[in-house]
Amino acid sequence: MDADVVVVGAGPVGLLLAAELELAGAQALVVERLAEPSREPRARGVGPLAAEALQRRGLGARLDAFHPRGRADRARDHGSEKGHFGWIHKIDQEMQDEPHRTGVLIAQPDLERVLAEHLDRLGGKALRAHQVTALEEDGDGVTVVCGAPGGELRLRAAYVVGCDGGRSTVRKLAGFPFPGTGPLMTARRADADVLCPAGLPPVGRTPTGTLFHAPGAVGTFDFEEAEVDPRSPVTTRELEASLCRVAGTEVTVTALRGATRFTDQARLVPSYRLGRVLLAGDAAHVHSPNGGQGLTLGLLDAANLGWKLAAAVDGRPGLLDSYTAERRPAAEAVLHNTRAQSALMRPGPHTDALRDIVAELMDLPDVNRYFGRMLNGLGTRYPLPEAGPDAHPAVGTHCPDLVLTAPRTGGADRAAGASLYALTERGGSVLVHTDGAGLPPTAVEREGTDRESPDRESAVTVVRVGAIGGGELSAVLLRPDGVVAWAAAAGAPADPAGLDRALRTWCAPV
Ligand SMILES: Cc1cc2nc3c(=O)[nH]c(=O)nc-3n(C[C@H](O)[C@H](O)[C@H](O)COP(=O)(O)OP(=O)(O)OC[C@H]3O[C@@H](n4cnc5c(N)ncnc54)[C@H](O)[C@@H]3O)c2cc1C
Repeated sequence: MDADVVVVGAGPVGLLLAAELELAGAQALVVERLAEPSREPRARGVGPLAAEALQRRGLGARLDAFHPRGRADRARDHGSEKGHFGWIHKIDQEMQDEPHRTGVLIAQPDLERVLAEHLDRLGGKALRAHQVTALEEDGDGVTVVCGAPGGELRLRAAYVVGCDGGRSTVRKLAGFPFPGTGPLMTARRADADVLCPAGLPPVGRTPTGTLFHAPGAVGTFDFEEAEVDPRSPVTTRELEASLCRVAGTEVTVTALRGATRFTDQARLVPSYRLGRVLLAGDAAHVHSPNGGQGLTLGLLDAANLGWKLAAAVDGRPGLLDSYTAERRPAAEAVLHNTRAQSALMRPGPHTDALRDIVAELMDLPDVNRYFGRMLNGLGTRYPLPEAGPDAHPAVGTHCPDLVLTAPRTGGADRAAGASLYALTERGGSVLVHTDGAGLPPTAVEREGTDRESPDRESAVTVVRVGAIGGGELSAVLLRPDGVVAWAAAAGAPADPAGLDRALRTWCAPV
């Protein structure tokens, strides 16, 4: 084997997946067709769940440094600090249930650089200028065939994961179906100078689409055109034609420095795994970028898959099926709301009327929270099969960072850091408990040992603390992806059988 897992694509999802595999003890090899990282301006940032996934790996401060600039850029381009649904900018962070759980605004190329450095620190390897052209799967593994500068290269691994974007070669080679809906509109974003003798209409809706312009930049959401070849570069002529259609007046492009095009087609694979081939990120799901959810979705795929696939490499494939079961519904929800946003952006007086009504509804605090929760994904709750009906409501959700207070007596020197996420940087599961939880000795016998000598059988860091967060919980078990596998409410009986089931299911899988 050349690696345990070949990860195809050094986009943000492939880079994070490779890092998560390395953290969980599997050797990952990334192959990327581009010789140099792309500078294409795509996502402006990540939502709260992806931001937290990166904070759990110690990348929080690095990302935060980019946030003020990203925030100013977005406010300038959107004309608002608020989040939007179908470009109705009314989602107010202060009105949300958990306003402190926010995303981070960082341009995608900067994020990719941070992730590449993170992977490098963990010892992960990436081969650039290697384009995957064929896959050969057999009972023991997969051979990945790449076109490389020195000729064809054949790489052998136990698994291959396609993180190779919306036009995924891996998805096509492995025969994954990709059903969904075609595009209603084509969007273009360009760094360009334009001349418009009649004067450009104001930014916003027009009778044929939506128009954006700022000094040196233009964009359209164009609902009135035949499909273009998505692989062809955006030309001056094409941009001009779209600007004329959407602005409803003559527009000349006098300088084009760079442009991107995307559509709102929405497609999703029925299963994220076929044998030894898996998909993550845009390779598994595509949809319009409205609401800025695609990158977060893909990064959470990576966080969900890394440790499960590492266990499979280690001969314990029992968790792999939970990957599709947990992540596909999250993607379905995003496809659903982006389709609704496209419908709300269609031109015409009927949509204008509908938008007015939605905009008024968004002023109601409950409705504002409804839209906020839909787009930030904080309502995501995986149905963990081993958790009974009486499981704590936090089980299956992604745990925010919580302040941990050191215990007052005994064990203080090996007690908690200031934050729960400080315990998650090296991967593995984390069990944090107070004495009040009254956990049985079997659950805590490994306390204080695993951080120094984690092993693959039960990579659980057990830490005794004085208090967790605001004191609502007496114990919490986090999976390596930050999902609450088990929790006990302070003052309630702790349910050690539930803890035992969670430990056996997620921390010592077969
Ligand atoms: C214009 C635009 C704006 C967007 N805005 C937002 C936003 O605001 N918020 C948001 O969350 N998302 C946004 N998105 C979506 C976001 O960019 C994607 O969800 C994200 O890039 C997905 O990451 P990925 O790693 O899955 O795929 P990609 O970033 O596409 O990376 C795939 C990688 O695989 C490589 N590759 C492809 N084929 C092969 C092959 N055969 N062999 C080897 N390597 C290969 C590619 O070169 C690439 O580096 C936007 C997208 C676009 C196009």
